[in-house]
Amino acid sequence: MICLLCRGKAVQHLQLPHTTTWRCRASNCGLEFASPQVRDDELRRIYTASYYPSTDNTRPVEYEPTDDSVVRQVLLQLEASLGSLKGLRLLDYGCGRGPISRIALELGLVPAGMEPDPVARGISKASVGMSVYASLEELRSQDLPPQFDLVILWNVIEHLRQPWSELQEIRRFLRPGGRLLVSTMNTRCLRARIESTRWESYSNPTHLYYFDRGSLERVLRCGGFHRVQEWKPKIRYPHHGAARRYFYELSTMFGVSDGLCYLCS
Ligand SMILES: [Zn+2]
Repeated sequence: MICLLCRGKAVQHLQLPHTTTWRCRASNCGLEFASPQVRDDELRRIYTASYYPSTDNTRPVEYEPTDDSVVRQVLLQLEASLGSLKGLRLLDYGCGRGPISRIALELGLVPAGMEPDPVARGISKASVGMSVYASLEELRSQDLPPQFDLVILWNVIEHLRQPWSELQEIRRFLRPGGRLLVSTMNTRCLRARIESTRWESYSNPTHLYYFDRGSLERVLRCGGFHRVQEWKPKIRYPHHGAARRYFYELSTMFGVSDGLCYLCS
């Protein structure tokens, strides 16, 4: 198998029910990816069934979005790092039903969304009252100058067919000096090592890539971003009891927590 990013040699890593994962052997790449990728019609079926099953915002879903309290903590700590977010124009890329944009609006940002799923797009438009584009082509057709101060891909990059190409496109909608915030899974985390194919980031068939620090940094740089830095917000998860909170803090300290966050410009 040839690495989809660097064309180096990739070897089989895991056999999943829906695909096989491969890991690039090149020392400066290490990209892990699904091949074959789930087809468009099958992906649409899974998104409809497991992410956005109804036209209102009430039915429970198999893959829940990030909890509101976590989004709020992330945005407030982003503000502590970057300065005031008030008035900043945000592109919430892969906004789903709009939970990030809704809280961003509360905090004074001016959000817009990009979301291919029509049900989720309708809900996020109605609940946040923002423009939500179906695709980059639609955003491009608006013929706007580079206009966003901040683009967020929150647990989205692993769903993209070719993330480095999409990032190059996204970059054109950022104003000079604008920031990109990306969060995704961390394949070097303890849970991935213990649970292997049962780990939720592997078992989710809509994930087409599986990142660690090295491969995520490489993809971000190939997407045209230069200042690529890991960012570690201190998050308290509402469902964590004291023991789990302590474990989470320890695993974050040692770089083996479930998720990665990167800030780029
Ligand atoms: Zn590679």
